[in-house]
Amino acid sequence: MRLKHIKLAGFKSFVDQTKVSFEHDMTAIVGPNGCGKSNIIDAVRWVLGESSAKNLRGDAMTDVIFNGATTRKAVGQASVELVFDNVAGRLENSMADRNEISIRRVVNRDSQNIYYLNGSKCRRRDITDIFLGTGLGPRSYAIIEQGTISRLIESKPQELRIFIEEAAGISKYKERRRDTETR
Ligand code: ATP
Ligand code: MG
Repeated sequence: MRLKHIKLAGFKSFVDQTKVSFEHDMTAIVGPNGCGKSNIIDAVRWVLGESSAKNLRGDAMTDVIFNGATTRKAVGQASVELVFDNVAGRLENSMADRNEISIRRVVNRDSQNIYYLNGSKCRRRDITDIFLGTGLGPRSYAIIEQGTISRLIESKPQELRIFIEEAAGISKYKERRRDTETR
């Protein structure tokens, strides 16, 4: 499974619709300080269901919405879409037969979040479920940023276990058990 492109609109500094394509095995995003490189990673994490404003480098969840600049007014909503190539059929769930998987999240100033899976409205849960155990999730090891390696090295055994369980593909079963037990 490969991330083909990301479309942002109204998300942080990306006020106009912006498409970033990842056409090769390796893509580097370069630019001056403050141009929005980290905002792209925040966007990926956000669509995947991140629910902590702090992990998105903000104070409130609505801080991801473009809040204006000297030449532009603030906007009312943020939207980000990720499109994955699933031709190799790596997902072993309801999405296994899809060549392309699109997930989208929209938030407005009333903190209403709407999620879409291949164009149809869905729950946050449906999106997190798809990626559980694949290594891709808002806080999974697919996103390695500054400080992640040292955090891993210095983490307590209980924290380290969370990474290992995700890599081994057990976390989805634990999540389902937790879900069943709390019902
Ligand atoms: P560096 O090289 O310093 O790491 P960067 O390219 O990673 O920089 P980002 O952190 O992605 O930069 O972008 C920061 C910019 O995004 C700042 O100019 C900030 O004002 C802008 N920004 C963040 N949130 C919003 C928002 N809600 N509305 C408008 N602009 C925003
Ligand atoms: Mg940065």
